[in-house]
Amino acid sequence: MPNPNKVTERLFQSPSKYIQGPYAIQNAAKYLGKLGNAPLLLCDDIVWKIAGEDLVKALSGAGFKVQRAVFGGEASREEIDRLSALGRKESSDFVIALGGGKTIDTAKTVADDLGKQVAIVPTTASTDAPCSALSVLYRPSGEFHCYTFFDKNPNVVLVDTTVISKAPPRFLAAGMGDAIATNVEARRCLNSPNFGGGLPTEVSAAIGQKCEEILFKYGKQAYEANKAHAVTPALEAVVEANTLLSGLGFESGGLAAAHAIHNGMTAIEELHSLLHGEKVAFGTICQLVLDGVPTSELDRYIDFMLSVDLPVNFEQLGIPKVKDEELRRVAELACAEGETIWNLDRVINVDLVFGAIKAADAAGSDYIRRSGWKRT
Ligand SMILES: [Zn+2]
Repeated sequence: MPNPNKVTERLFQSPSKYIQGPYAIQNAAKYLGKLGNAPLLLCDDIVWKIAGEDLVKALSGAGFKVQRAVFGGEASREEIDRLSALGRKESSDFVIALGGGKTIDTAKTVADDLGKQVAIVPTTASTDAPCSALSVLYRPSGEFHCYTFFDKNPNVVLVDTTVISKAPPRFLAAGMGDAIATNVEARRCLNSPNFGGGLPTEVSAAIGQKCEEILFKYGKQAYEANKAHAVTPALEAVVEANTLLSGLGFESGGLAAAHAIHNGMTAIEELHSLLHGEKVAFGTICQLVLDGVPTSELDRYIDFMLSVDLPVNFEQLGIPKVKDEELRRVAELACAEGETIWNLDRVINVDLVFGAIKAADAAGSDYIRRSGWKRT
């Protein structure tokens, strides 16, 4: 399973440039100038009001001719085809993604279809999508469809922490849910080729560890700063962990059970309103159970998740009455051929994954009882 082609090369890949700071959008022309001057800008109507107008102002002032395209909301093949046709019609010379994970994944695929470069300007720190050379595509109904891979990573990732500090804190928390999986997954798939097709390097392991260290150290503080819309060193550190470290860490380190279980969970309709990282957080508890970690370690992760209001049991996920048949279906999908769960360095099957999902819910509930945790 983990390495059928017996790959021996180590491989690390990353975006060409990553920039992060307060009011960074105001300097967009300086960083995007090398990509072209007639970009196709993908963003939805909500993001347009939050940051779109400012970005276009900054670029237009420097002579860019920006074509705005309204993103429909789902990273689906249909939406990508529609936007690619628009880019062709407008002769766009590069693509900008302004928004969250689905906008970003759509823009990366549109740029790949057009054979153009792409700049990512995330308006939330909610996923590890901005830095990677892959997109997760969904069906128009919202169910997981497939991963698509590109020859190169985004050319520029520009993160404006002032914009991110104004986003609802739930997005930052979801990004932490996605980022907390990075080290948990990467440390268990050292012998499997990563998303670039090579074995993980020392640096990808170090990135995963640093990512986790930042979350435990600053996660709660950054979450509270976000509630106050304040850009602080803790918030900057967590934005970097969620966006750069999590992105580099998963791509060159590898994903395993947490993301595979997340993908399976997208088949439960009641979970469609949850963010990617919220489901990945629960998937991380499932993987820790599968990994057989000691209770003290499991508690540490659950405690962290609760501190930033991430779901740790079925009730918090909003599926208190979920049936065993549904959970078995999640386990089956998590164990589908080609899923990242097969990167794990040991034998796995549907029964083990089904059991881990049930036990993760029980562990989350048990910790809430023992610790007397209450939502504040
Ligand atoms: Zn993810």
